[in-house]
Amino acid sequence: MSQECTTDDCRNFTTEYLCTRCVSDLQAWLDRIPILLVELRVTIARQDNVRPAGGGGGGSKPGSAAPLNLDAWQLSENLRTAGKSAKDYAHQAHAAGSAWLIADWVTKAELLVSGPEAEHVNHHAIKTKLAQHDPGPMPTSDVVKWLKDKARIHITSMDIRNWVRRDKLTAIEPGRYPTYHPYDVLNAWHDTRV
Ligand SMILES: [Zn+2]
Repeated sequence: MSQECTTDDCRNFTTEYLCTRCVSDLQAWLDRIPILLVELRVTIARQDNVRPAGGGGGGSKPGSAAPLNLDAWQLSENLRTAGKSAKDYAHQAHAAGSAWLIADWVTKAELLVSGPEAEHVNHHAIKTKLAQHDPGPMPTSDVVKWLKDKARIHITSMDIRNWVRRDKLTAIEPGRYPTYHPYDVLNAWHDTRV
């Protein structure tokens, strides 16, 4: 028996609750969790060190450390409840909802881990900068590095491939070694966050 995949924006047919594409998307999210849990532990510890000292560095407000610390702790608790195998989720009626939640947790945790500057990205400024210094299309790994260096945006090659698969991003030059315009990648990144 075949039915439509239960993911909102997906019309693939499947015999389970998630189609093969959504299972592999979910697996990509799940695979990021073990490293994130380690990084979150560092984030939580770092905030703990800052707070009692009253912000010894002088630059950080002591009061602002508490919510971030709790966020990091809560996210790591949430992420711990996620399973290891996306295939196991595919049998569950609420698989699409779980996948959405897990992607949300991972995205938020990655923002926390990469530091506060990533949360205050000025999209308008980045776009203006991109328009002034248009670097032109480049291969996946170069776009990843370029956005990290110039825009402090941390994405992975896997993100880019996922966005292409989900029609959120189109390669300038498709094929075995596709190239992307950083501006398009930035838009896809922004779209997946709102
Ligand atoms: Zn699907």
